[in-house]
Amino acid sequence: PSGAEPATKIVINLERLQQLPAEKVGPLARYAATIQSQRGDYNGKVLSIRTEDLRSLAIIYDMTPGELTEQLIDWGVLPPEARPSKED
Ligand code: C2E
Ligand code: C2E
Repeated sequence: PSGAEPATKIVINLERLQQLPAEKVGPLARYAATIQSQRGDYNGKVLSIRTEDLRSLAIIYDMTPGELTEQLIDWGVLPPEARPSKED
């Protein structure tokens, strides 16, 4: 086990995502843009995505979903509250 738990509620900060270098966040930024396009939702400052999408993204980033959660919190793309409490 990595010790890191995956987020259960994934709310991406789109403004923060745009500020980060493409070589870091490229795949995530493209994924988010695709979901926005599929929903026809371009107005939000945040984008909620499926738990299932976190697992797909983790494969793309070659991390566990828990490790990717920590990375996204570290980048400021997810708020620290996205980290599930140990009591969950
Ligand atoms: P779909 O999966 O067949 O979902 C059809 C519609 O059901 C969605 O239209 C949305 O109105 C509703 N819906 C499905 N799941 C949820 C949910 O968990 N919460 C809410 N609030 N509504 C839900 P919408 O939003 O226009 O999306 C169109 C299509 O775009 C979806 O068809 C799906 O294929 C894709 N899509 C949209 N958002 C996501 C996403 O976050 N992840 C993935 N993997 N695909 C998405
Ligand atoms: P939410 O709309 O509050 O939905 C919470 C959870 O309820 C979803 O978690 C999913 O497990 C279940 N759920 C809600 N609507 C549907 C549905 O139509 N079909 C199925 N099979 N399950 C449903 P999940 O998948 O992790 O999604 C988290 C959040 O991501 C959703 O919260 C919603 O804000 C967003 N989302 C996911 N898929 C879509 C989508 O297709 N369209 C839109 N507009 N938002 C979506």
